[in-house]
Amino acid sequence: MSEKLTDIFAIDVFNETRMAERLPKKTYAALKKTIENGDDLDPSVAEIVANAMKDWAIERGATHYSHWFQPMTGITAEKHDSFISPTNDGKVIMEFSGKELVKGEPDASSFPSGGLRATFEARGYTAWDCTSPAFLREDAAGVTLCIPTAFCSYTGEALDMKTPLLRSMEAISAQAVRILKLFGHEDVKRVTTSVGPEQEYFLVDKDKYMKRQDLIFAGRTLFGTMPPKGQEMEDHYYGSIKEKIATFMRELNVELWKMGVTAKTQHNEAAPAQHELAPIYATANIASDHNQLIMECMKRVASHHGLACLLHEKPFEGVNGSGKHNNWSMVTNTGKNVLDPGKTPHENVQFLLFLSAVLQAVDEHADLLRISAANPGNDHRLGADEAPPAIISVFIGSQLEDVLSQLIETGEAKSCKEGGKLNIGVHTLPELKKDATDRNRTSPFAFTGNKFEFRMVASSMSIAMANTVLNTIVADVLDRMADELEQAEDFDLAIHDLIKKSLTDHNRIVFNGNGYAEAWVKEAERRGLPNIKNMVDAIPALTTKKAIDLFGKHHIFTPVELHSRAEVLYESYSKTINIEAKTMISMAGVQFIPAVINYIKKLADSINAVKAAAPDIDVSVQTELLKETSKLLSKAEAARKKLEAVVKEASSMGEGADQAAFFRDKVVPAMEELRAPIDALEQIVDKELWPVPTYGDLLFEV
Ligand code: ADP
Ligand code: MG
Repeated sequence: MSEKLTDIFAIDVFNETRMAERLPKKTYAALKKTIENGDDLDPSVAEIVANAMKDWAIERGATHYSHWFQPMTGITAEKHDSFISPTNDGKVIMEFSGKELVKGEPDASSFPSGGLRATFEARGYTAWDCTSPAFLREDAAGVTLCIPTAFCSYTGEALDMKTPLLRSMEAISAQAVRILKLFGHEDVKRVTTSVGPEQEYFLVDKDKYMKRQDLIFAGRTLFGTMPPKGQEMEDHYYGSIKEKIATFMRELNVELWKMGVTAKTQHNEAAPAQHELAPIYATANIASDHNQLIMECMKRVASHHGLACLLHEKPFEGVNGSGKHNNWSMVTNTGKNVLDPGKTPHENVQFLLFLSAVLQAVDEHADLLRISAANPGNDHRLGADEAPPAIISVFIGSQLEDVLSQLIETGEAKSCKEGGKLNIGVHTLPELKKDATDRNRTSPFAFTGNKFEFRMVASSMSIAMANTVLNTIVADVLDRMADELEQAEDFDLAIHDLIKKSLTDHNRIVFNGNGYAEAWVKEAERRGLPNIKNMVDAIPALTTKKAIDLFGKHHIFTPVELHSRAEVLYESYSKTINIEAKTMISMAGVQFIPAVINYIKKLADSINAVKAAAPDIDVSVQTELLKETSKLLSKAEAARKKLEAVVKEASSMGEGADQAAFFRDKVVPAMEELRAPIDALEQIVDKELWPVPTYGDLLFEV
């Protein structure tokens, strides 16, 4: 790999540079207006863009194009069409029209719609999202021109993750611009949300992976126990990277760079075989697309190196699981991050206003943030001892907390912890040290210097919903704040009162202590903060009157869209647990139980053989083992039968909330009941006879 990074970066992206090179000036200007201001795109412009895009793609070896979209499965979908078009003389030419660029009509009946789209009306539309650049993707199928698109139903309802995200970006921009105007920033036309998601993942040996049905079907181990060594030595975290993994990372980086993904940071994570990749932050929509590309690319590149990439939130019991830290901030089109504490009193007040708006938004809609980060895998993490707790609170650091509490008490802040005087409106805030705000790793939502870090997001999930919620809830608070401030006679006084009131009313959301401690659970309860322990309990937040009003007001989701999303989530929970349970039944039935029977026979044979050879020799060890193994075998078989019965009962129920609750309350405990004896047997049965690679094999022998 001799290419220079600067030469290969974004080589496969139809970005602004390429457009400027290849489009007539007028077309380029028209397209830019659409990208920047959301103006409608003239079909004749689309025609020219499509042609230029096709020529470029073909030069780079592309044979196919695909509308690339993100249905509610949370992963991406694509349907490939080749560029070929037959001519009269029996040959073909390569064609791609403006119509094909702008709109697609995949038969979409098999994507989840939550009842939005009856199968007889299965048509769905994909529509070009020109704010996220088209790119080329190379895999075994060749080179494909991928066009990021939104996906909606015949009647215009969003069927994807991207559409609401784009809508929410509009909403927060509009409201933030109103606020900034009040501060005299007439030049600010747009505010975009910048997002940098840190992606955690595991890599295991592909051959061993292929020997485990649970990894193949469920993406996580459903049986297995930690070997004597886990992560307690903390020797993997930031440890030196093994050659094989380094080779993988190198190829991954190059692949991502070519597609314009700014892969930046890579390191080993806390658990053995766990790693992290973080790109440099980008506009929310692009960051969300890029995160999908990162996940896809990780899986693809892993297979080139005899590895399998696990994106599941909890692939192994007993070591840390994976998440996604969603770093989020608001940046003006003039390049200013409004979450950056400023240097002048004026900037400080503006910063405090945005800060308090975020705190208020998180407090008012913690339930929505919770569901935005919920998936069945994350149920194993949130609230366990490693990841953020299921209770949402905000960490702001002791320095800021001190400033805020003075504001709440006296309406002004006169001092700060690190010395120096301050008085909002007269003096400036002390310069906040980034270090001082970034130490608490237990908080689900932390202010880290000039951005917020939402740490609950699930590793395998799209980040679109989390950012849609964040954008919308903050937009809503800014909207109400702008309403009040625009009416104010004395702006300085009004803003002072507004910040004080907001901070006072929502102070309960601020928590700087240890989020893992039992004491916090009690304290949070006292403060009235919701503690939503699992995905099924989190889903109703989407369809409360509060949520319907909020999303309706800002045109993010219609009530119908919200109900359909809730349905999709219930279904996806039930389906996931159903697959896991069935995988367990199968593994126990055709792998573990037969292996245990073999071992029992081995023990019995040994006892008989020893007795026959020398009747006075002690066979108590074999006999004890035989008893214990047989006892566990009976337990395992009983649990397997029970699990089979509850799964059958669950399948006979209609889809929806009740079924999902049944899976959670009846099927999940039955799964645990089956796992326990099998895991105990794994510790007893001859390793030679154990039918699958163990945790030790998977985690320490990559
Ligand atoms: P950490 O200490 O959590 O690893 P980093 O500074 O490495 O923090 O940042 C992690 C992620 O946050 C990266 O993707 C980075 O690009 C992103 N990030 C940094 N600044 C911002 C910002 N202002 N807005 C959004 N994301 C940001
Ligand atoms: Mg971080």
